Amino acid sequence: DAQNRGGSRFAFFDRNRAIENHERLILERDLQAAIEHGELVLFYQPKVDMRTEELVGMEALVRWNHPRLGMVPPLKFISIAEETGLIVPLERWVLRTACLQVQQWAREGRPSVPVAVNLSQIHLMQTDIVESVLATLEDLKFDNSLLELEVTESAMMHNEAQVIEVLGRFKQAGISVSLDDFGTGYSSLSYLHLLPIDCLKIDRSFIKGITTNENSRAIVEMILTMSRQLGLHIIAEGIEHKEQVELLRDLQCFTAQGFYYSKPVPAGEVFACRKLSS
Ligand code: C2E
Ligand code: MG
Ligand code: MG
Ligand code: MG
Repeated sequence: DAQNRGGSRFAFFDRNRAIENHERLILERDLQAAIEHGELVLFYQPKVDMRTEELVGMEALVRWNHPRLGMVPPLKFISIAEETGLIVPLERWVLRTACLQVQQWAREGRPSVPVAVNLSQIHLMQTDIVESVLATLEDLKFDNSLLELEVTESAMMHNEAQVIEVLGRFKQAGISVSLDDFGTGYSSLSYLHLLPIDCLKIDRSFIKGITTNENSRAIVEMILTMSRQLGLHIIAEGIEHKEQVELLRDLQCFTAQGFYYSKPVPAGEVFACRKLSS
């Protein structure tokens, strides 16, 4: 009997896995056409000054509006895009679209704040990455100071020298660079002072427990102290509660991104968010 139940449980797991694999195959098959046929969509999540609740920036986050599967989140297709090399055309589209959106907002008289786009390490390692990004900005006559690039620590692991060189050239061109999901990678501390970056984004896994877990809080305090020493700006990711806002303000951390202020929303809704002043 117990064996039977075990058997059916495994059958159930297998079926789930089969569905997942099937979905992945569909996504892999359809991704190239999706990029070409305009099925990708950008949502934007506000970055907020916790003292004034002012909008100080936003992050562009890609979604895939699949004709049969509906709105597919990035965690389901970014790794596929990386494995197939499609991440390069995908992120070129993201960059261009986010910049065009900022210019559209400016024409509508919205306050101009920087937009951040995520750069995969695969894309970052392309030999022409700097030329390619700068060519897009030039083509659009985009103000470089309104662009931020978010990169993760994983890129640093194998290609430290190349990453330092590439990020330095971005910085020289007036583009700011943030280290995303900070604290989740390896050897964070040893190379940090060498990196030409402007900002650390503390990963939401540390922010999650900050009011309830002493270890999370200690880590966040240490990151804040260190970033001050290095002259880096800090963004706290994944703020969901008022208590987190209060604690972080006490710790002199003032910039946040999280559901407490707003989830990522379509371009038309960013400035409609009543919670924010702008
Ligand atoms: P990320 O760059 O760390 O972006 C933040 C993610 O955290 C977003 O998920 C956002 O919805 C989520 N988030 C923000 N605040 C909260 C909160 O308070 N609570 C919780 N539970 N989650 C919060 P999303 O949009 O699903 O994106 C997931 C990841 O997909 C991004 O993480 C980024 O790594 C990746 N991604 C999205 N667009 C791109 C892209 O154009 N290129 C690359 N390489 N990766 C991308
Ligand atoms: Mg990011
Ligand atoms: Mg992040
Ligand atoms: Mg994250």
